[in-house]
Amino acid sequence: ALIDAAIARASHVQPIVSPVAWPVTTRERYDVMVVGAGFAGAVMAERLAAGSGKRVLVVDRRPHVAGNAYDHLDAGGVLIHQYGPHIFHTNSGEIVDYLSGFTDWRPYEHRVLADVRGTLVPMPINRTTLNALYGLELGTEAEAAAFLASRAEPVDVVRTSADVVISAVGRDLYETFFEGYTRKQWGLDPSELDKSVTARVPTRTNTDDRYFTDSFQAMPLDGYTRMFERMLDHPNIDVLLGVDYHEARDAYPHDHLVFTGPIDEYFGYRYGQLPYRSLRFQHETLSQEWHQPVAVVNYPSPDVPYTRVTEYKHLTGQQAPNTSITYEYPSATGDPYYPIPRAENQELFKRYEALAIAEAGVSFVGRLATYRYYNMDQVVGQALATYRRLAERWREPDAP
Ligand code: FAD
Ligand code: UDP
Repeated sequence: ALIDAAIARASHVQPIVSPVAWPVTTRERYDVMVVGAGFAGAVMAERLAAGSGKRVLVVDRRPHVAGNAYDHLDAGGVLIHQYGPHIFHTNSGEIVDYLSGFTDWRPYEHRVLADVRGTLVPMPINRTTLNALYGLELGTEAEAAAFLASRAEPVDVVRTSADVVISAVGRDLYETFFEGYTRKQWGLDPSELDKSVTARVPTRTNTDDRYFTDSFQAMPLDGYTRMFERMLDHPNIDVLLGVDYHEARDAYPHDHLVFTGPIDEYFGYRYGQLPYRSLRFQHETLSQEWHQPVAVVNYPSPDVPYTRVTEYKHLTGQQAPNTSITYEYPSATGDPYYPIPRAENQELFKRYEALAIAEAGVSFVGRLATYRYYNMDQVVGQALATYRRLAERWREPDAP
């Protein structure tokens, strides 16, 4: 019945770039069950199968692989990201080498504009932003730095996401670009969030208008889903989609578990729910070639209910007479997308982490299971490191 349910649900999956018919299950017993087919789960499954010869069952409650990086062709034939824009960027050669085993790349440097009272200006704030916003002609980095210094409000100890920005650029730019956006995105004031959140976005005195400065920035040439299909296409890996862990746990005996879902859920919310932030994605196809000049336009104003609009063809390089866009509406309810970085949440996570450390035969990996605001490359790095530790332990005689 379990398998029938999985097949029934999987048959309603939207077409993916190049559909693979997953064998449902071929074994009665697996060495490892991997819960979650996102970056954390897929990297673990691939390494365990190809690197250690383990027989692996991957289970995901969604009807598709690739986790939040899932992309597919929409009804208009445009490749879209179901869960919002995913741009791959990293400084790690090891991570690029690993993923390059499963995909070629399309070089892509991400650029974002912010809509400030109807004018589009570069975000992160750079010299062009300052000149456009204040009608200035700052010509050098030194002039831009002096301008920012004249507005910055020194903060004794930079602790929160408000401190980080106000101490660098002052209150006016903080209110224009960060206060409204952050309140919408997190449902919290920047002063209630760890400094690491807004510190993700730098301030520049030059005219570099790229969102990221990592040495490697690219999109998987045939999309993320295709890359995941290649990772999981191994004779030692079976994939069960549309099935929750609690349905699969006892049906498929396994010696080890890799869990990449929310850690509080795994432990039955014993200490209460860990806060996660969610989003509602409104996808639209427009019968025009282009909608906006860059892939992402941010809307920092508190008067606009969404945070950003993404137009995928800029990311993917796809040519088409129509175009597809997504509005992101932040939400307190729905799938858990973002751990919320603040001290009290970290304390609660630490209590769950103590349970995780004591839980024999289970590895917790990924953004939800380790409650970390990780980018894709960081999750890949974390999974590769977790696999190496496991493989090392299994090489020791009499290891559990
Ligand atoms: P996930 O991708 O969430 O995968 C976990 C999987 O586990 C899910 O598919 C879920 O269905 C499954 N699961 C959970 N619980 C269960 C259960 N009980 N039973 C069965 N299955 C279960 N990163 C970047 O590097 N660049 C970007 O541009 C970028 N943009 C982003 C934009 C948005 C809107 C979001 C939300 C994230 C973005 N990220 C980006 C982060 C990126 O999505 C994550 O780093 C990455 O996808 C995390 O992978 P993961 O495997 O840990 O988690
Ligand atoms: N942020 C903001 N205004 C912006 C862009 C970002 O206030 O125009 C803040 C906001 O709090 C956001 C955080 O910086 O959540 C990190 O931004 P990033 O673009 O990295 O978010 P992600 O892509 O992970 O959603």
